[in-house]
Amino acid sequence: MSARILVVEDEPQLRNLLRLYLERDGHHVTDAGNGPAALAAYDADGADLVILDLMLPGMQGETVLEALRDAGDVPVLITSARRSDAERIAGLRAGADDYLAKPFNPHELTARVAAILRRTKSTASDGRPPILSVSGGRLVLDPGSRRYTLASGASGRLTPGESSLLEALAARPGAVLTRQQLLDVVARRPDEVYERVVDVHVANLRRKLDDDPGDPWLIETVPASGYRLLAVPDPRP
Ligand code: CA
Repeated sequence: MSARILVVEDEPQLRNLLRLYLERDGHHVTDAGNGPAALAAYDADGADLVILDLMLPGMQGETVLEALRDAGDVPVLITSARRSDAERIAGLRAGADDYLAKPFNPHELTARVAAILRRTKSTASDGRPPILSVSGGRLVLDPGSRRYTLASGASGRLTPGESSLLEALAARPGAVLTRQQLLDVVARRPDEVYERVVDVHVANLRRKLDDDPGDPWLIETVPASGYRLLAVPDPRP
């Protein structure tokens, strides 16, 4: 699956190594050594995926991520020498789709890239996926564009991970899905820390979609088990 990938990395050797591996997989690679160059490149040509080093000279990676998030919903894979769980979680919460700690094996990186592209393409390409509507239209999501509208009038866009997770819950309404099951939907990495990716996506979904914080209606946390869709999906049109 060929994609246009923007690599943002200030270390030339690593930048070239990433380009080599990604191009070998058939991707078209653009690269940038700093934040402003990255945003200019994205502005000019767009990208299907951005690989973003957090520690950049001048403009920090976090600022680049924010700007990318404001510009649209391109999937972002963060690479960073910061290894703590808190930092990984913070990156995911800020809207990254995946987080790879440095140093990493290039094969691991290309595997993650392939997984992210599979997730994005499966909702974006062949045949428009049916609209998801729950609770009599209280929430309506177009999984293709990942745009949602709430009956309250709010609207916005989910990240690919958030959308996949909500779709998975809605595919089995009322059933409890474990973090591991949900993790299989949004990522492929069986470690405990990583299961928190699911928690972060759920927290983001609640923040965006659960318009009544005093009375959560969309997704229920089932202690020691996982999550369950509380809302009842409306019949598909
Ligand atoms: Ca760096």
